[in-house]
Amino acid sequence: MLSDARSQPVAGPAPELQVARDLARRAIPIAPILLVAAAIGWGWGGVASSAIGIGLVPLSASLMYMYVTTPEPGNPRYPRVGLAATMRAKLAEAPPAIAALRDRITDDDAVVYKPLETLFLTGDWHKGRVVLLGDAVHATTPHLGQGAGMAIEDSLVLAEELERGDTPESAFRAYQARRFPRCEYIVERSFAICNAQVNRQPVDQAKATADMFAVVSAPI
Ligand SMILES: Cc1cc2nc3c(=O)[nH]c(=O)nc-3n(C[C@H](O)[C@H](O)[C@H](O)COP(=O)(O)OP(=O)(O)OC[C@H]3O[C@@H](n4cnc5c(N)ncnc54)[C@H](O)[C@@H]3O)c2cc1C
Repeated sequence: MLSDARSQPVAGPAPELQVARDLARRAIPIAPILLVAAAIGWGWGGVASSAIGIGLVPLSASLMYMYVTTPEPGNPRYPRVGLAATMRAKLAEAPPAIAALRDRITDDDAVVYKPLETLFLTGDWHKGRVVLLGDAVHATTPHLGQGAGMAIEDSLVLAEELERGDTPESAFRAYQARRFPRCEYIVERSFAICNAQVNRQPVDQAKATADMFAVVSAPI
């Protein structure tokens, strides 16, 4: 998949453009189309087309989606009617391979626009007999492609701790202690990449991804 292409700047070297060309040639429909906006405009002062990230995610032989991350100072809301045109406008300076796909973004209902937000709960992840996992306690920006992975890992660790714990309370505490550092790392590193991208600072995505895999491949 192309998840490591999430913060490739449009104007910079973009190996995924070859993939884009291939996908364009194969005329794979790009529905649903996704527009995700980074509504974190602090420190950012001007039009920053190179701060736009674009990715193409094949879902099957006949379907893919495109995501676009853009700086959105002030966290604006866009009306549903005209959302496809809004997304096309955000891609006005896209390179030719993306531009060929851009013109096929015509269905307002297929475009999803959401701010990127993070959440990391530093307090207890449980209360009484209720415990939280996944995005409910550590929602991350998509820049390392690990949100679902972390949720799945949570469930495995929670099941292990429930099996060996004397009480739900002790199992919940042990579960959180094992999960906390890795989830915190993913949320913080993803956000750092997002922030750098929005502020047009260089991002070594390959290194960030390699570092991340070193962390998540270690036993929990
Ligand atoms: C566009 C996009 C691309 C992504 N790509 C990746 C990727 O490549 N790799 C990756 O690892 N992660 C990715 N993620 C992140 C990943 O999807 C999430 O981190 C993951 O789904 C979190 O799982 P979860 O079970 O915690 O929450 P969710 O998947 O959000 O599940 C919560 C469920 O609870 C339901 N619910 C909510 N409120 C109620 C209620 N009151 N009653 C009953 N049900 C309710 C919701 O409908 C939902 O089904 C992506 C996310 C998005 C949006």
